[in-house]
Amino acid sequence: MKQRIETICVQGGYHPKNGEPRQIPIVESTTFRYETGEAMGKLFDLEAAGYFYSRLANPTCDTVAARIAELEGGTAAMLTGSGQAANFIAFFNISEAGDHAVACSTIYGGTYNLLAVTMKKMGIEVTFVSPDCTDEELNAAFRENTKFVFGETIANPALTVLDIEKFAGAAHAHGVPLIIDNTFATPVNCRPIEWGADIVTHSTTKYMDGHGSAVGGAIVDSGKFDWMKYKEKFPGLTTPDESYHGITYAEKFGLEGAFITKATAQVMRDLGMKQSPYDAYLLGLGLESLHVRMERHCANGLAVAKFLQSDPHVEKVNYCGLPGDKYYERAQKYLPNGSCGVVSFELKGGRKAAEIFMKNLKVAAIETHVADARTCCLHPASTTHRQMTDAELIAAGASPSLVRYSCGIENADDLIEDIRQALAAIDR
Ligand code: PLP
Repeated sequence: MKQRIETICVQGGYHPKNGEPRQIPIVESTTFRYETGEAMGKLFDLEAAGYFYSRLANPTCDTVAARIAELEGGTAAMLTGSGQAANFIAFFNISEAGDHAVACSTIYGGTYNLLAVTMKKMGIEVTFVSPDCTDEELNAAFRENTKFVFGETIANPALTVLDIEKFAGAAHAHGVPLIIDNTFATPVNCRPIEWGADIVTHSTTKYMDGHGSAVGGAIVDSGKFDWMKYKEKFPGLTTPDESYHGITYAEKFGLEGAFITKATAQVMRDLGMKQSPYDAYLLGLGLESLHVRMERHCANGLAVAKFLQSDPHVEKVNYCGLPGDKYYERAQKYLPNGSCGVVSFELKGGRKAAEIFMKNLKVAAIETHVADARTCCLHPASTTHRQMTDAELIAAGASPSLVRYSCGIENADDLIEDIRQALAAIDR
């Protein structure tokens, strides 16, 4: 029976048998015992399914990954030690020195840096395109050696909404997959695979865990991209892996399993960016209430955005759920039930006004984090972007008075009262 997202959040991936624990067990064991070397050898050869070392696979992590795969409508998934690791593994699984990728320019700063600086050092070049580029501009970004396209459903912190169908269409026309970071929307509000995405990534550190307790990431494969059709482009999947007993992943594991098996058996084996079983347990616990929390995050986000829009201290509000927002129409298509709890806004009175506002908040805490149960707030100009001049800030799309406000799941009236009194302090 096909289940709905709310049921998958609570029960997906784990179906205990008679007498087994109702909650996902934490298997805190680095290794697993076997009675014969032969039995273990079969696992090494990927001839049999099972566990031998938790850097590669662990039952708690696999169970939670299976829940996330189900939530996104994918065929296979893996957990990683962070969202950064998830994106890196997803990219590096299908690209190497001499390759190229196309990425949306409004993405999380850490991912931008990963692509523009670190992967460049590894010989992989990236062309960045605006989320609002024309079809011609998007097509012009591709090269002969392009291996993937990347974007975020709702970008952090720009809050732009990606036209997933358009980016998927362009990627497929050039014979490469579309990788979508779905951290801010979560599968509760958008399932990118249904719009043509091939691989979905997450910083589970955010809404999925939801309580600010565990840093983590996840990669989900749609199982739809036909690697063999583009054999020459993806030799890592379509030709024998000499570092793993000559296995050809796309042949042995098919469309559904090739990408994640290779990412585990090769990239995770060599780079070891794994999630701990305990953190996976916390993530599984968080997922159980994801659908309930997202509803409140979105309701609070919209209430706060509407209040800010009506307040004379505020110059501009960015929230794609707000009628009149630049991304409102696109959000109605991709995020009809809500977007996320993150709102950004610019204050009249520049940097000084933003600093006074931040200093006077009592309910919202000043944090670099976003997207958890407790409301938090950041003034990039005085924290994450403090090395930049005002002119540089404006060029980077973060004006000196820009505030990023991440609505938690508290009472919306309490958040609004807190914002009102902090704005009033600007006049004193
Ligand atoms: N992707 C997005 C959209 C993010 O917002 C973040 C972190 O803020 C990351 C990836 C990186 O995730 P992590 O901090 O878990 O490594």
